[in-house]
Amino acid sequence: MEQTFTIAQTWELLDQARADGRSVGLVPTMGFLHAGHASLIERSAAENDITLTTIFVNPLQFAADEDLSDYPRDLERDLATCEAAGASIVLTPTVDEMYPVPIVTKVTVDELSESMEGAQRPTHFAGVATVVAKLFNIGGRCRAYFGEKDFQQLAIIRRMVIDLSFPVEVVGCPIVRETNGLAMSSRNTYLSPDEFVAAGVLNRSLRSAVKLAEGGETSADIIRTHIVEMIATETLVSVPDYVSIVDAATLAPLETLAGEVRIILAAQVGRPRLLDNIGVTLAS
Ligand code: AMP
Repeated sequence: MEQTFTIAQTWELLDQARADGRSVGLVPTMGFLHAGHASLIERSAAENDITLTTIFVNPLQFAADEDLSDYPRDLERDLATCEAAGASIVLTPTVDEMYPVPIVTKVTVDELSESMEGAQRPTHFAGVATVVAKLFNIGGRCRAYFGEKDFQQLAIIRRMVIDLSFPVEVVGCPIVRETNGLAMSSRNTYLSPDEFVAAGVLNRSLRSAVKLAEGGETSADIIRTHIVEMIATETLVSVPDYVSIVDAATLAPLETLAGEVRIILAAQVGRPRLLDNIGVTLAS
């Protein structure tokens, strides 16, 4: 495994690999890696000859009042995780390397970016789409691996690839969870032991909602109320910021569940806001 610090160094290695006929997988991350990130790297390593993992805490996707400066970091441990999971190259650029001058060119993905996380964090997805566009220009023709944990982000990136013709095949990967069902996240490190246990209700409520839907309940209102009431039983978990029941491809809100449905929620538990989602397929 080789660590690179610059875009030019990374291009050189990837150009050489492609000239040798090797396929490239890309796994963008913000570091503080856990088993969820490792699962993406392992999948890429299984499906491609070369895997480029990037570790970059992207200032552009944090608002002024968000946790950029104290976003958790542990580069040494991350490099060991990348190596164990099968990464070939790990790009760890500085902010100056990625943004040598104040950026005035940005990518915005309309409509898909406006609901859910986008409504809570209005500049967030432009920051994500812009840095992912840059990483796609660094990675070149490749398969790129993203977690379903950030389901709205995954849908936005898929759409950006179509709209802007990036030579990238986007691969969505399943959510890796703790034993209590909590989706793994770098931000879980901020949870106290009691909050960690309480946060298990997020996934329990989603699984219970899927059972309701599979049992024939098709009203989004009833399913949403069921989730909110279950979450309310845990005093350490706040009232969710949103519980959205949407079409999995378009993220359009549904009143009646049909077809490929995704139920997506966000709630504050102590310091961090936590995201989770689940899919259910119903006859349309
Ligand atoms: P982040 O470092 O939080 O920006 O995440 C980098 C990538 O890892 C994104 O594609 C995330 O969706 C993915 N990811 C984060 N947590 C998980 C998880 N628990 N399971 C699967 N993928 C994840």
